This record gives sequence, structure tokens and C-alpha cells, in this order.
Amino acid sequence: MATQPIVSIYGNSNSGKTELVVELVEEFVGEGLEVCTIKHSPSPLSLDQEGKDTWRHKEAGSRMTVLATEVETSFLVPREMKLEEVEDMLERLGGFDLVIAEGYKDGDAPKVAVGEIDPRDNTLHEYDGDFFALKKKINDLISVNHLLDDLPGLDCGRCGYDSCQELAKAIYEDERELSDCVVREQRMVDLKVNGEDVPLEYFPAQFVEGGLKGMLRALKGVDDEINRISLEIRD
Ligand code: SF4
Repeated sequence: MATQPIVSIYGNSNSGKTELVVELVEEFVGEGLEVCTIKHSPSPLSLDQEGKDTWRHKEAGSRMTVLATEVETSFLVPREMKLEEVEDMLERLGGFDLVIAEGYKDGDAPKVAVGEIDPRDNTLHEYDGDFFALKKKINDLISVNHLLDDLPGLDCGRCGYDSCQELAKAIYEDERELSDCVVREQRMVDLKVNGEDVPLEYFPAQFVEGGLKGMLRALKGVDDEINRISLEIRD
């Protein structure tokens, strides 16, 4: 399961959020990472303008309008989107090494508080001006996300942690190992659909394995002893 690390920088107006985002982007891009930024504003601003062609498309009822010019492509969605929805869209676009959002105070994304503000849920760092301490936190987050790519993403709790993310963190901190993921260890079937891994729990995996083996054994020329099956179905 490919995931992209995301961190949301929040704070009150004029707390220095944008300056910090710019500094982080420059730092991580300088290290060769592909960075995406998202700006959330509480004001009802729009890049669209009344009477323009894109505005007319929207008024006619289009769910999303794409403005493509020689220098830029803008996706205009005529409603507020939660950070999780934007994340989903970015995953579909191919994913980034790091996504930095500015201004989202709520939601499940890991957050960094800037300035005097009550910490929100999932705040992983309260920024006190120590840029390198913050950078280390974000690098830790990126490393945990890479480990998460090797876990099934089922959040089943059978490893003793509530989520794969928590086990990935424990592995990163050298407290646990990848083999502590019960589902991964018991996995007998690797299923991919359109090139993407589709994790299967133990019992569905057993069902697929048993069904396929039973069907194949009934075919002429197939040994009773089946150790490995490869099957690819194309459109
Ligand atoms: S056992 Fe594996 S799939 Fe289940 S929560 Fe733990 S890491 Fe995730």
C-alpha cells in the first residue's frame, strides 16, 4: 500500500506558518524530495472569476473544472474539501515524497503547531524556532511511512497495536520487527489489481487459495502437489 507522508502546519494568523512552510519546502526540495503543498484558508476566496469560461462551466453544473494553460493547470472544485479528500486525490496523481499542508487544524493528519495555540489532536511537534528539531520529526515521519508500505494496511490490531502506523513507528524505534505483523507472516496469497497490492486477511486468503487449488487439481495435467500459482487476468 503506497502512502505519502503528510504534515499539517497550523497556528493563528501571523504566527509564521507560511514562512515555516516555505523554509521546509526549500529544505526538502533541496534534498531531492518531490514536495506538494496545500494551503487551507478560512476565507471564502476563489481563483475563479464571475463571467469567465471556467465560472460558466461551474454554473452549468460541472463537478470539477480544470483550467489548463501554457504555464499552469488548476483544478477547481466548487466546494470545500477535507484534507483527507485532497490526500486521496494526490495519491491518485501518483503520490509525492512529502505533502505539507498549511492551515488545516482538524483531521487525522500529523500536525505541527506554530505560535501560541492550543494543541490539536495528532500534534507531533510544537514548533519553538528549532528548525532542525522539526526537520528531524518530519524525517522520522517519512521513514515510518516507508515502513508502512511493507505492511498490509488492514489496521486489524492482531499485532497488539491499534493500527499498522503504530507498529511501523515501533519498528522504526527498534522495538518491534516487520515479522510482528501477524497478517504479513500468515499471508499465503499476494493479490494485485491494476498493479496495486490488495491486502487479504487470513481467512479470505485461505478461501482464495483453497478454491483455486481445488479447481486447478480438477484440470488435466495439473499435479496434486501445488506449491505456487501465478494468474494474471487482463481486460
Ligand atoms: S497485524 Fe499487521 S495488518 Fe494488523 S494492525 Fe498489525 S501491522 Fe497492521
